[in-house]
Amino acid sequence: MALPYVILALVLGLAIGSFLNVVAYRLPRGESLSHPPSHCPTCDAPIRWYDNLPVIGWLSLRGRCRACGNPISWRYPAVEAVTGLLFALVVGTQDDAIRIALGLLLVTALVPITLIDLDVRLIPNKITLPASIAALIAGLALDIHYVPEQLIAGAAAFAFFFLAAWLYPRGMGMGDVKLAGMLGLYLGRAVAPAIFIALITGVLVGVVIMARVGQAAGRKTAVPFGPFLALGGMIAFFVGDSIMNAYLDRF
Ligand SMILES: [Zn+2]
Repeated sequence: MALPYVILALVLGLAIGSFLNVVAYRLPRGESLSHPPSHCPTCDAPIRWYDNLPVIGWLSLRGRCRACGNPISWRYPAVEAVTGLLFALVVGTQDDAIRIALGLLLVTALVPITLIDLDVRLIPNKITLPASIAALIAGLALDIHYVPEQLIAGAAAFAFFFLAAWLYPRGMGMGDVKLAGMLGLYLGRAVAPAIFIALITGVLVGVVIMARVGQAAGRKTAVPFGPFLALGGMIAFFVGDSIMNAYLDRF
């Protein structure tokens, strides 16, 4: 897509990223997403609109609350920047309406899923379920011929992880199973490389942690798997089909 659309996507992604910070903070706490308006988590002072501008607000405050001076985590502007850049990347690299819709929806779902799983080791149904429905609606509305592939890939990924969770209950939860099914709906057959990348990177990070803190402590540290599925899903969205074609061409 042309540059003006990419810039528009960047700005939209920055704003959505700001909202996703709110989702990641409030959803696990059972708080309303719309009320009250943004406030400092330390002193409760309301945040003025110009201090709440994505990335720019945090930079102009040098990462401190205007009222109480307590530090505001760098995670907030980082999440906004990453969401904005991924939105721009989706619009910059994709041409079909279905691909753009699925890409933007996927980023919107995976960013809070990653943050919440890192924070509280949980992948909320309140995100995976609506995101799964949204993927199907996008398929039905924009490319009905893609829907069977979405459903088959979603069911296959769900079944694969259901089996994995059953065989290895300490490593996977039902949240991971549902997330894998959701990824199938977004990626179609490219869900295969997504799962492969997630397993490889997950095992690598697990090995590194065990090497650093020892095997027994490493097992207890139990890294959540959701962020690896999110990483694999995002990479596979952009290059998964090329990986599948290159692989299938060899036979
Ligand atoms: Zn404050």
